[in-house]
Amino acid sequence: MLPGPDQIIECPHCHALARYGTLISGNTFGARLWTDGKQLAPMLPEVPPFTRCPACQAFYWVEDAPEVGQLNRWGDIKPGTPQAWADAPEVQEPSPEEYQEVLARGRPDGLTGERWEHLLIRAWHRYNDAYRELPAGTGAPALPEPIRTNMVTLTSVLTGESPSDHLLRAELQRQLGNMTQARRELQNVHDAPELVSQMLHLIEAGDATVREFQWE
Ligand SMILES: [Zn+2]
Repeated sequence: MLPGPDQIIECPHCHALARYGTLISGNTFGARLWTDGKQLAPMLPEVPPFTRCPACQAFYWVEDAPEVGQLNRWGDIKPGTPQAWADAPEVQEPSPEEYQEVLARGRPDGLTGERWEHLLIRAWHRYNDAYRELPAGTGAPALPEPIRTNMVTLTSVLTGESPSDHLLRAELQRQLGNMTQARRELQNVHDAPELVSQMLHLIEAGDATVREFQWE
């Protein structure tokens, strides 16, 4: 992995600065993949696409934030670089509670369908984060009602027919405890036998917790 400079951006609401690391090159060596589609790759760190400004508390999409400049964090900071760039806080993914705060207001006005889907998926993944390392045989607690509501909304938003859409809907149904529907969705996935087989195994076991895919 070869890190690039830090990108400095400003909050579209209050202009407070923030930053995130860029990559010149990365790879998926050592990547981990979970049943809900979340992947963590240590050599390909991700910039959260959606964040909360620590200065004004408003939420924004990182790609909407004006770019102010770039900071080379590995070399000397060039003379004339504003100290505020070096001090800018790193962009953080919202907490599960912060996502709930956003989703409790319903679909934001003017939000594209793609972003609405993305927001629902990120909120779901963030909720699942607390249960990714549970040992086999230990289940996540019952879904809180607001989380369940978001997941049901997501199943209706995910209308695509791609294998990943079917896998995601199968996983949503499995975590919602609808094992028959989960199994039905998997019948439409033909090109990922390893993933399907592991999910079917969980469905047979009545396991509704997010699990990491295991590779031989
Ligand atoms: Zn702000």
